[in-house]
Amino acid sequence: MAFVELRQVDKYYGDVLGIEDINLTVKDGEFLVLVGPSGSGKTTILRLIAGLEIPNTGEIRIGERIVNNLAPNERNISMVFQSYALYPHMTVEQNIGFPLRSARVNRNEIQQKVERTAKLFNIDRLLQRKPSQLSGGERQRVALARAVVREPDVFLLDEPLSNLDVRLRGLARAELRQFQRKLGVTTLYVTHDQEEAMSMGDRVAVVSQGKIRQIGTAQDLYQRPADTFVATFLGSPPMNLIDKDSCIIGFHPEHFLPVTAVTDEAPIIIPFRVIRVEYLGPESRVYGQVDSLTGKVDAVASLSASSGLSVEAGQTHDFAVARHRLTYFNKNTQLRMQPTPFTHDGVRVS
Ligand code: ADP
Ligand code: MG
Repeated sequence: MAFVELRQVDKYYGDVLGIEDINLTVKDGEFLVLVGPSGSGKTTILRLIAGLEIPNTGEIRIGERIVNNLAPNERNISMVFQSYALYPHMTVEQNIGFPLRSARVNRNEIQQKVERTAKLFNIDRLLQRKPSQLSGGERQRVALARAVVREPDVFLLDEPLSNLDVRLRGLARAELRQFQRKLGVTTLYVTHDQEEAMSMGDRVAVVSQGKIRQIGTAQDLYQRPADTFVATFLGSPPMNLIDKDSCIIGFHPEHFLPVTAVTDEAPIIIPFRVIRVEYLGPESRVYGQVDSLTGKVDAVASLSASSGLSVEAGQTHDFAVARHRLTYFNKNTQLRMQPTPFTHDGVRVS
């Protein structure tokens, strides 16, 4: 077991920015998720830790060791890619045991470890099958079992569930977290899916354009986004942002409600031109537009079914947000203003 630390790490591919000034500590046994859009630098971070890329500057530590100059096989890490490939001519047992055979572990030990790992991933009854005789989910588990059988200090997973269909992916997320807890292995998990990130990570690091924008628990990021990028990347639907004179104000769709439903002494009232209402069962999503400094902008409200609230499309309704539900961002830097630098009287809304 080990912690992982990156200090001021830069990686350029020629002139192309991979990542820049990355500072990151993954605690011993932690499950940390890196989330961000395609091309933001997530895979680069994993490849640097794995030793498949060398940083231009900065220091990478695994446990107490600085590993910058260690070859991948000296780092005791294990990595699973989206396009993991099992050996088609080998059985599940041979696939899982492969890294141990390569490391010249003795036969008895290989058998013991393969059996134990297969049990952990609930694939012990499949040991004699070939990959072609397995479902997508089972193949995935074999790939994970093969990756952990050597008991790595650090487990690196790059979008490992993207090949599964939506229903299986939900199950696989929960299972993967269970395996990781049982193993207690320090894990970095990469995804572009914010929901996956929020649901799986002990902590989540949001990456954009080669930089880490914010690291925290799902609650931290959702309730106190560091900037407008994080605010609009997380949540489904994400935070509404409105440009005002002095700043940008943000509020989550579930806090944007018909004014009669807001129990706040002096809520911020925002006229909402409702264009479309989507009924989703537990909630209704209300899509429309509100006024901002630069004209009309899109906004979304989310009304829970239990609230009994409903609105009609094609009309403008008085919606409101309780004051303590508002987040403020600096217009120039896009960073969250903290603490809120003025009273609401300073924010002209409407
Ligand atoms: P992500 O995994 O978040 O999609 P990557 O880490 O793969 O992002 O890529 C980050 C940036 O580095 C992108 O602009 C990508 O085009 C660039 N990049 C990644 N690998 C290479 C490479 N081998 N050569 C040149 N540019 C690369
Ligand atoms: Mg990638």
